[in-house]
Amino acid sequence: MRMRFVALTVMIMLGISAVGQQAAKAKGPGVAELKKMTARFATTELKVDLSKLSDGDRRALAKLVQAAWVIDDIFLTQYWSGNHDLWAKLKKDNSEVGKARQRYFWINKSPWSALDGHVAFMPGVPEHKPDGANFYPADMKKEDFEKWLKTLDEKQRAQATGFFTVIKKMDAPEIPESLHGRLSSVPYSTEYEEQLEKMAKLLEEAARLTDNATLKRFLTTRAAAFRSNDYYESDVAWMDLDAPLDITIGPYETYNDEIFGYKASYEVYVNLRDDAESKKLEAFSAKLQDTENNLPIDAKYRNPKIGSQAPIRVVNTVYAGGDGNHGVQTAAYNLPNDERVVAEKGSKRVMLKNMQQAKFDKTLVPISRRVLAKDEQKDLSFEWFFTHILAHELTHGLGPHQITVEGRKTTPREELKELYSAIEEAKADVTGLFMLQYLMDNDKGGLVQGGADNERKLYTTFLASTFRTLRFGQREAHGKGMAVQVNYFMDKGAVSVRPDGTFAVDVPKMKMAVRDLTRDLLTMEATGDYNGAKQMLDTLGKVRPEFEKALSGLKDIPTDIEPVFVTAKELAGENPLRK
Ligand code: ZN
Repeated sequence: MRMRFVALTVMIMLGISAVGQQAAKAKGPGVAELKKMTARFATTELKVDLSKLSDGDRRALAKLVQAAWVIDDIFLTQYWSGNHDLWAKLKKDNSEVGKARQRYFWINKSPWSALDGHVAFMPGVPEHKPDGANFYPADMKKEDFEKWLKTLDEKQRAQATGFFTVIKKMDAPEIPESLHGRLSSVPYSTEYEEQLEKMAKLLEEAARLTDNATLKRFLTTRAAAFRSNDYYESDVAWMDLDAPLDITIGPYETYNDEIFGYKASYEVYVNLRDDAESKKLEAFSAKLQDTENNLPIDAKYRNPKIGSQAPIRVVNTVYAGGDGNHGVQTAAYNLPNDERVVAEKGSKRVMLKNMQQAKFDKTLVPISRRVLAKDEQKDLSFEWFFTHILAHELTHGLGPHQITVEGRKTTPREELKELYSAIEEAKADVTGLFMLQYLMDNDKGGLVQGGADNERKLYTTFLASTFRTLRFGQREAHGKGMAVQVNYFMDKGAVSVRPDGTFAVDVPKMKMAVRDLTRDLLTMEATGDYNGAKQMLDTLGKVRPEFEKALSGLKDIPTDIEPVFVTAKELAGENPLRK
């Protein structure tokens, strides 16, 4: 699962979609419009400090960047059968419109605009991204596949619906004519054999260079998986991976298969572990039970022994490729998706800190200049922004998870049903604030430095970030949960609007409001109070006119970033596919 921090409903708000769609039917958008579409992604250099890497790891890193380029190559093939030919042609087109298309193609890794519902931005291509990408024959209907499935035995059916096969129509001359036109499953290890072999060799070279045993193990097992098409053992090795040089590489997410969601796209994130943040996480984890014991709820709802948490890694990205770099950039991901591995080893969450810093700089900073009161703007802080994200993730694990309602053993999710996500996201936000305040007050000398200055930074940065979330609408769980918080804080006087339409935080009132809202949300979960949740979302789940007005003034601010991987380039040169 992947978190991009931008809902894909953006296109409606930007008003570009309709124009784009009209234009694509004829010649496609012209240079000016392409530039406008591209400008939604602010170009940003991503640099990573390699000075602490061992010599072996540094050389291994260069090999891994080269392997990552191959992922871009496979991904172009996976996304659309015509992608490579089109890209080769585009690269030769040096006209002004040709250059603008090249640039936007590379951002989207296809001729379809991710921010505009995957509509074509140039002529001579299908109007929309094919639902089945290049995982199924272009002319296959859903029913054809389902009919074919019924003719298969259990093992064949598992292959047909598996993550790591493409579905092809048989038409090779060596196959009897009577079978032509029938569907068949082809393993990735066959379909992408040449590229996978190239990557396997690079991974093995990197494995020889690194001095970290867990990385060695992951790289050698993953290389074997590229050849055998069996990813299980290497997924397990990835769960155990704990090294300065951190990498995620392979077929993972199935979002691009919009017919069935069966087929995995290749993606890669070549990362360096962030040791300072990892230490902070450890310190937070050590304080979780203490925070739980002091949650502002009836003592009988507190959990005397909170369960173990999924591991979290904080990293900085040197290179992202394939499915990991098209359209809106990934901010964090949870993997693996293979349920057998999850059942046995759990899953791991990886947070891309420098990617989030880039998003912060290019979107949240300009937003804050418009929505925060002048004298509050100095309090915007990436450190607190990121620390709150960590706290949000951790506090998903706090509060009631196993509850009893009228004698029945149940869970908040079961009781709150379709409202659960919005309530749970709001809970993680405010309980995260509560936890940080609790640590500021009670963990003197710990990693969370308190004091008036830091409190102002935490709450002001949080206020600015609510605009970033709400910009993309209030239909989704995150947006709805955020609207609830903002309205609650305004009702308590913790957030107020100034005569010039900007917003400011009242810290003492904010601390009380955070405590109150934490109590309300957690109690709702503890009692499985569906009606209470419904009432809260109905009355507070939509932002008010003064907020709406501020949001409408943010339309020209970039939606996301286009990363330029400077460190990767210094180390290994330019991706030959990009040249
Ligand atoms: Zn969350």
